[in-house]
Amino acid sequence: MNNVFATAFEQANQRDDADQLSHFKQRFDLPEDMVYLDGNSLGPLTIAAKERAYTVVEQQWGKDLITSWNRHDWINLPIITGEKIAPLIGAAAGQVICCDSISVNLFKLLSAALNMRPDRHAVLTTMDNFPTDRYVAEGLNQLNRAHPIELRSTSEANIYEAINEDIAVVMLTQVNFRTGNRLDVKTITQRAHDKGCLIIWDLAHSAGVIPVELDDNQVDFAVGCGYKYLNGGPGAPAFVYVAQRHQEQYRQPLQGWMGHTQPFSFDPRYQPAASIKSNLVGTPSVISMSVMDAALDIFADVEISALETKALALTQWFHTLLERAEMNKVFSVSEYFDARHSGAQLALRHENAYAICQAWIASGVIADFRAPDILRVGFSPLFLSFSDLVSAVEKLSAIMEAAEYLQPQFNEVHTVT
Ligand SMILES: *Cc1c(COP(=O)(O)O)cnc(C)c1O
Repeated sequence: MNNVFATAFEQANQRDDADQLSHFKQRFDLPEDMVYLDGNSLGPLTIAAKERAYTVVEQQWGKDLITSWNRHDWINLPIITGEKIAPLIGAAAGQVICCDSISVNLFKLLSAALNMRPDRHAVLTTMDNFPTDRYVAEGLNQLNRAHPIELRSTSEANIYEAINEDIAVVMLTQVNFRTGNRLDVKTITQRAHDKGCLIIWDLAHSAGVIPVELDDNQVDFAVGCGYKYLNGGPGAPAFVYVAQRHQEQYRQPLQGWMGHTQPFSFDPRYQPAASIKSNLVGTPSVISMSVMDAALDIFADVEISALETKALALTQWFHTLLERAEMNKVFSVSEYFDARHSGAQLALRHENAYAICQAWIASGVIADFRAPDILRVGFSPLFLSFSDLVSAVEKLSAIMEAAEYLQPQFNEVHTVT
């Protein structure tokens, strides 16, 4: 077995030497000796974000106080930050804004989209979509009692057939948060449009790691996450995309003063901004958004396609290592590592996945557990190396061989899993 890893380390070192993206790791402030396989859940701290956190707190808030709204352009941060995200998801200028959370943004988009299809009442999603997406859709029925929304659920395999003329809005997540399965945005969007539906894509696990091409695929609406691959920090604001062609008609119900065409006119009557800005509700969280704005600068220096290529190579390498260490006999592994289906993560199923994850974390490898039985591994291409993955699998293999995960301290269930 040791031989397996010795050979793997040699091969990995060669791949790391040839890796054009390896220098990006220096721009992160990661602890030494840790392998972080959770960049898909909470992106790590960049040096730029850390520096901005000091500047925004000490200098801007501390010294310049309220004048910073103009002096440091706090007022335009949602747009500035949104425009940095736009090229990562194939969106031309004027269509993306940074604000609120995915959940809140989905509420806006779903309400607006349903109003644009007044004769239809069904929303189609998948049963194993991220729960918040489903909850938001169901929650709309507390407002819309005269015409309740019918939330229809399908499996990922049957989406295409399930899209029909009854459906007002198709609401899907491109990369399944548990399994890493990637859906085909192009063909599904086309099908939705052929049937007269509008489509909302949740890009939580795609933005910043795989190309999305919203404009080219004529997507109507999208949302995405700031704290995953975009490395915006815990609870970083999310983003929302409204295609230019819909903006005139688009009205979302969370009318707040920041979405008014002139917030500082303090007009008693609401007049929405005639732009993506109508998605703003209340005052943005400036500290959090500033940190994210700084974190996004790393993406100006890299092509998304290069990130995808490396992420998929890491995914495949990890899978190869599992096989060489015969861990594929211990875990049942999702097999999504070709570009059509892979969302740069793998799900390893085992009935003791929770405890195994805890033992792995104790050994310096951070991954996460997703109920009921998944050990989830994410392959962030900006800071992971091929040799990191050898260390990770070597440690996992030791944990499994010695059945270390059976120890009581690894079986204590924490609040956040
Ligand atoms: C992480 C994630 C979310 C998070 O939603 P927030 O409201 O921003 O916390 C939503 N949807 C999907 C698919 C996710 O992976």
